[in-house]
Amino acid sequence: MPRLVMKFGGTSVADLDRIRNAARKVKREVEKGYEVAVVVSAMAGKTNELVGLVRKAAATEGEGESSFYDAREYDAVVASGEQVTAGLMSIVLQEMGVPARSWQGWQVPILTNASHGAARIEEIRTEALERKFAEGLHAVVAGFQGLGPDGRITTLGRGGSDTSAVALAAALGAERCDIYTDVDGVYTTDPRITKKARKLERIAYEEMLELASLGAKVLQTRSVELAMRYKVRLQVLSSFSDEPGTLVCDEEEIMESRAVSGIAYVRDEAKLTLISVADRPGVAAAIFGPLAEAGVNVDMIVQNISEEGRTDMTFSCSVDDVPKAMKALQEARAKGAINYRDLVADTEVSKVSVVGIGMRSHAGVAARMFKALADEGVNIKVITTSEIKVSVLVDRKYMELAVQALHDAFDLDKPADRLEG
Ligand code: ADP
Ligand code: ASP
Ligand code: MG
Repeated sequence: MPRLVMKFGGTSVADLDRIRNAARKVKREVEKGYEVAVVVSAMAGKTNELVGLVRKAAATEGEGESSFYDAREYDAVVASGEQVTAGLMSIVLQEMGVPARSWQGWQVPILTNASHGAARIEEIRTEALERKFAEGLHAVVAGFQGLGPDGRITTLGRGGSDTSAVALAAALGAERCDIYTDVDGVYTTDPRITKKARKLERIAYEEMLELASLGAKVLQTRSVELAMRYKVRLQVLSSFSDEPGTLVCDEEEIMESRAVSGIAYVRDEAKLTLISVADRPGVAAAIFGPLAEAGVNVDMIVQNISEEGRTDMTFSCSVDDVPKAMKALQEARAKGAINYRDLVADTEVSKVSVVGIGMRSHAGVAARMFKALADEGVNIKVITTSEIKVSVLVDRKYMELAVQALHDAFDLDKPADRLEG
């Protein structure tokens, strides 16, 4: 029998009515003759609530929240949200006459590496699940979670249920992996930022990968990587309508041609500057080594021109990582491993990026981007580019304005030219 993976995100399973609505979609596919593996997220808001509890538990009493906690216990807590939804979905399916059984990550098992809080799936052993398929039982798998080499629960990073779904689709040889969410597809930018955002019929794996890694929440980056590697037919669609969604596919299957396909943003970025560090070999390693060890995900890096053998080093990371970054750098300075005059954190910046495989053949994208921002009076703090994207850091209060201005500047509200032939 052909197989299908159907993933439902938090808003799609926010309460029992929505779980029933999702279950009706599952039933429809079961009736078409598919063996279905449903992957579920925690109910909307649940994971945030659990993360908040962990942060409060880790703080000294009366001191709010702390970002220094035991990652194994974080996983033990936050994985629980998906466990609840998997059980509820299974009960609702049974009630609708669809034989189903819930599976937690360890029961499948979905085996991961040891990186608690941001684990990577290494192997999915599908034999037990397939035996149940053969008995006529559809599967409801808790997303976001796996089993680490230490025998403990791991989680796959925020948004990780997308990755559970794609990995399972690859392991089961599923015909498709359908990601049901609260929007009816992948748009030219987050439809919450501008009403002019336009749904894309298709998007290339590579563009989707870039958009996701630059902040478009609609798919977790790792899920797109896996879909691209294992050629999973990945579709994003709404759990609240029957509109056709967006197909993530090979570049060759795209019929449109444009320089920029989409705009992504990360709202809560921070910019840290080490003022007056020595400009000699080994300094960058001495700075970024301790940051990596502390688990800080460094994004952009800029080194200023040096004067009299000293320079400023600026980098960006997520606002959440700032306490860890500050601590790592202050400790390295106390040990004498690095020497800076001052450490300045600007936690009020956002990153805005334009993305498109068309940039390989269209010149002038960066210039057009900078002009559009200048016309709105938005100052650019840091710039980075790669083959198919240009990213800038701007003050957070201008983030939405920047996205809207760029969406207009690249005519993303209008359909693109069709390719010939
Ligand atoms: P789920 O809970 O279903 O996993 P997410 O909140 O993780 O849903 O992702 C869906 C959200 O992603 C949308 O509500 C939308 O605001 C946001 N989003 C960001 N960029 C895009 C984009 N380019 N296209 C569609 N949605 C986007
Ligand atoms: N519930 C997890 C999160 O909110 C995983 C997911 O929904 O994909 O990050
Ligand atoms: Mg998500």
